[in-house]
Amino acid sequence: MRIGILALQGAFIEHEHMLQQLGAECVELRKSSDLAAELDGIVLPGGESTVQGKLLRELGMYEELKKRIHQGLPILATCAGLILLAEQVCDTKKSQAAEGCFAALPVVVRRNAYGRQLGSFSDRAKIRGIPKEEEFFPLEFIRAPYIVSLRDTKEVEPIAVIGKLPDGSSGENIVGVRYHNQIGLAFHPELTQDARCHEMFLSMCHA
Ligand code: GLN
Repeated sequence: MRIGILALQGAFIEHEHMLQQLGAECVELRKSSDLAAELDGIVLPGGESTVQGKLLRELGMYEELKKRIHQGLPILATCAGLILLAEQVCDTKKSQAAEGCFAALPVVVRRNAYGRQLGSFSDRAKIRGIPKEEEFFPLEFIRAPYIVSLRDTKEVEPIAVIGKLPDGSSGENIVGVRYHNQIGLAFHPELTQDARCHEMFLSMCHA
């Protein structure tokens, strides 16, 4: 199985190592010709979504990648990747939401919603659909996006929820979703020793 990993910027190498350990072949996607490869799935890693979005366009990768995503190629998107995938993105500083980069996942996200105090934090949750889903999964958040709302509550399935909201108060906070062939996570599973999110992703790529 061959997985393309967007490797323009950010935390891509950790995804690569984790997927290789699980037996997948990884191709780093750095330029438009890399997208000519036969791919069974794509990882959109964390990093800086504005920089990644700009580079995607400058390098002429945006249109082809968008086409593949909308055609249903399995996607694992973490943190900045989730921002790129979301239909709508709002910035903490601006009140109006804007259309997201790939605009493929029917959720609204807010960038850098956790502010300075909670900019980076850890938690744990049970994640629906991973192997041994009754066992807690460690969650690492780094200047994470907040999933403000699901735009399609029938088809977008929340798979991970924590009990803390961006302002630090208690409340139900969806931090992971699945929508057909797309997995969007606000946290960084590649920065843990637990490969079960990646296993779930690879099982989608097999199908
Ligand atoms: N804050 C970053 C952004 O807005 C995302 C952070 C991350 O990917 N760890 O793109």
